[in-house]
Amino acid sequence: MEKTYYPTIGLEIHAELKTDSKMFCGCKNDPSASSGQVPDSQNTNICPICMGHPGTLPVPNKQAIENVIKVGLALGSNIANFTEFDRKNYFYPDIPKGYQISQYKYPIVSGGSLNDKAITRIHLEEDTGLSKHDRGNFTLVDFNRAGVPLMEMVTEPVIHSAKEAGDFARELQLLLRTLGVSEANMEKGEMRVEPNISISPDPNKFGTKVEVKNLNSFKAVEKAIEYELARMQALYEAGREDEIVQETRGWDENKQTTFSQRSKENANDYRYFPDPDIPKFMLSEMFDMDAIKLSLPELPWQKRERYQKDFGLGEELETFVVDSELSKYFETVARSLPSLEQIKIASNYILSDMLGLLKKDATLKMPSPENFVILVGMIVNSEITSRGAKDILAMIMKEDANPKNLAEKEGLLQQNDEESIRALAQKIISENQNLVEQYKAGKESIAQAFVGIMMKETKGSANPQIALKILKEELQK
Ligand code: ADP
Ligand code: MG
Ligand code: ZN
Repeated sequence: MEKTYYPTIGLEIHAELKTDSKMFCGCKNDPSASSGQVPDSQNTNICPICMGHPGTLPVPNKQAIENVIKVGLALGSNIANFTEFDRKNYFYPDIPKGYQISQYKYPIVSGGSLNDKAITRIHLEEDTGLSKHDRGNFTLVDFNRAGVPLMEMVTEPVIHSAKEAGDFARELQLLLRTLGVSEANMEKGEMRVEPNISISPDPNKFGTKVEVKNLNSFKAVEKAIEYELARMQALYEAGREDEIVQETRGWDENKQTTFSQRSKENANDYRYFPDPDIPKFMLSEMFDMDAIKLSLPELPWQKRERYQKDFGLGEELETFVVDSELSKYFETVARSLPSLEQIKIASNYILSDMLGLLKKDATLKMPSPENFVILVGMIVNSEITSRGAKDILAMIMKEDANPKNLAEKEGLLQQNDEESIRALAQKIISENQNLVEQYKAGKESIAQAFVGIMMKETKGSANPQIALKILKEELQK
C-alpha cells in the first residue's frame, strides 16, 4: 500500500528595510549600490562603523525599528515592550566585526499571522557584505550592503506545501511594499526566503529538517521545496531515511536540484550575548503604537474585501491589489459609474483590453478616466459595438479624446434605428437574390450571412441583434 508522508515547512524570510541610512551608522542605505549591480560603486557607502573597526560605536536606526513595528501591527502581532540587540558571533569575510548585530531573546515582534500561518517572531539585524566569487581564483567583498537594516521573519512549522510557502512569501512581499518598508525584490536579494523542510510518516511527529538557501525567486522557492519533499520521500521509501540529516542545502538553478552545503550549526555555536555598546529599549516609551497603527495604509486583505464588497469583483481583483497605480485609476473610474454592472464592464476593459494594448505597444497610455467613463457609458447604452469600443479604446490610448466625438467622426456609432436598418436590409436582399433563394430553400444560416453583409456595408456599426431580427422579417416576406 502507498504510504502517506506529511510535509512540514517553516520559513525564515529576510527583507532589507527602506531607510535613509544604515542600521547603526550614518552611511547611505542605497539598495542599488548595495546589490552590487551598479558598476564601480563597490565600497562607496562605508565607514569605520559598518566596517567594524574597533572602538567605534553603533547607534540604532529608529526608522528601521518603526518599520518592523509597522509590520508587526499589520499582522496582529505582539510588539515587545522591552527589546535589546545581541551579538551573533561567527567568522566570515563579509562580516568584518566577527559578529553580526541581531536580536535573540527579545525580538521586536512576536506572534501574529499571515495567510492564516502563525508567525513566531520578527527581529531586526544588520545585513552582511556581499562576497563575489565569480571573478577568478579569488573573492572580492563589497561592504555597501554591510549594516543595511534587515528584518528576519520566522514562521511556525505550519506550512504544508510548496504552493502555500510561495503564497505566503508573495503575500509578505505585497505587505512590505504596501507598508513602504521594503522593496522586497527577490531577484535583487532585497528579500530572501529560506524554507525549512521535513517530511514524516507520522502526522504527530516532525521529521528531520533541512534548510535551503540561495533562492532568488518565488518560483525557485516552490521548486526547491518540491524537490526536497520528493528527495526525502524517495529516501523513506527506500528505507534510507536515516540519510536525511539536519543540514543547510543550496539550490542549483541550472540543474533544478538542491545540494548539501554544510551541516547545521546550533544557536549555541553563535554565543549570542547582549551587545554592550547598544542601550536597551522600552519600545512603548519610544513609540506611540496607537498612532503608528492609525497611520498604516489599507492592507492587501482589507483592499480585497473592499473590492469584493464595493465593486462586486471576483478573482480578477488581485491585479488591482498588487498594482496600486492601476487600482487608483480603476477606483476613479468606478466612482463615476452608476452601477455594479458598469463597474464590472469597466474592470473587464481595463484588465483585458487596456493592459493587453499597453503590453503590445509601449507608446500607448491610459486614457483619462473621464473619457474612459464616457466610453463605458456608450458600451452600456449600445451606442457602440464591442468591436467599435475596442477600436475607440486603442485610439484614445494613442491620443486622449472624447470617445463620442471620435465615434461620430469614424462612423462607429452603432445603428439602432430600425427604419434605416430596414431600408438597408431591403436593399441588400434585392441585390442578393441567389442568397434569398437558398434561404427560402431552408438554409437558415443565410440570415447570418446577410448580417455579415450589412456589417460590412455599415463598417460594423449596425446593431447586430436588431439587424438579424429585421433581416429575418424581410426575408420572410
Ligand atoms: P533552527 O534553530 O535550526 O534555526 P528553529 O527552531 O529556529 O530552528 O526553526 C527554524 C525554522 O524551521 C522555523 O521557521 C521553524 O518553523 C522551522 N521548523 C522547525 N522544525 C521544523 C521541521 N521539523 N520541519 C520543518 N520546519 C521546521
Ligand atoms: Mg535558522
Ligand atoms: Zn557606515
